[in-house]
Amino acid sequence: MVQALLQLCSQARQGHTSLYQYSGICYGFLKWQTAASKSTRLLQLARSVADPSNVIDRMKLSLLSDPTSRAPDLQVVFGDGYIGTRGYPANITSGYVHISGANASAKPLIDPRYISNAFDLEATKEAAKYLRKMGTSSPFKELWAKEYDPGFDTQTDEQWEAYVRENVSTFYHLLETCAMPTKENGGVVDPELKVYGVRNLRVVDASVIPIMSSANIQTAVYGIAERAAEIIAKKYR
Ligand SMILES: Cc1cc2nc3c(=O)[nH]c(=O)nc-3n(C[C@H](O)[C@H](O)[C@H](O)COP(=O)(O)OP(=O)(O)OC[C@H]3O[C@@H](n4cnc5c(N)ncnc54)[C@H](O)[C@@H]3O)c2cc1C
Repeated sequence: MVQALLQLCSQARQGHTSLYQYSGICYGFLKWQTAASKSTRLLQLARSVADPSNVIDRMKLSLLSDPTSRAPDLQVVFGDGYIGTRGYPANITSGYVHISGANASAKPLIDPRYISNAFDLEATKEAAKYLRKMGTSSPFKELWAKEYDPGFDTQTDEQWEAYVRENVSTFYHLLETCAMPTKENGGVVDPELKVYGVRNLRVVDASVIPIMSSANIQTAVYGIAERAAEIIAKKYR
């Protein structure tokens, strides 16, 4: 994928019409085995922070461990003169949303717990470093004038850590707050999207997706909505 994008970029440089000129954005989907300088170390970190009793963590580990799994560990966004360095790659952290008391109008307690473990921190740093590597490799380096974010002042591990801690974002891909594992495994909805322990209540949105997969999630949300429509229509037909 990266090779294909570099080729498109190179064609543009030579004056040929290419997809790179006409697409607002291109995406690369990578496994850590390709993108990380120390992918084995990353996997060790993932194993050390994942909770083996948690079914979601086990699934995340299995996707991370399998280089042939088609679930990307890292999504690279190529825009016009830009490779995003601020995203959050496939993670082990889970945050939470809880009620704060008996008053239904009270604000909920929300803590996304971003970069709250060693794997998420290292993975996010590796992603940002990999993007610099791309930007400083041919043919991007001949095409692009300079790196403005974070800029070449950022060199040491500590500086990369400070950069990702201050700048990381979810790209609006929030999910997992009403995830779909079994109730015993901490799930909120069953495979029919019904909330455990409540009658006649379904959740149909991104929150039922249990795992962030380093990819845009809107198509999955459409899929969930279509599946919900099928389930509900079947019930009342
Ligand atoms: C700026 C931006 C850019 C994005 N770009 C992309 C992209 O390029 N590709 C991609 O795949 N994803 C993208 N996303 C993410 C994608 O839009 C979301 O993942 C997706 O819309 C989530 O769907 P949802 O149904 O879970 O929630 P939403 O789409 O947020 O739907 C929630 C709905 O509930 C309504 N609502 C809220 N509170 C109440 C209430 N109290 N009563 C009644 N209704 C209520 C809201 O008005 C809204 O219509 C982007 C998101 C943003 C914000």
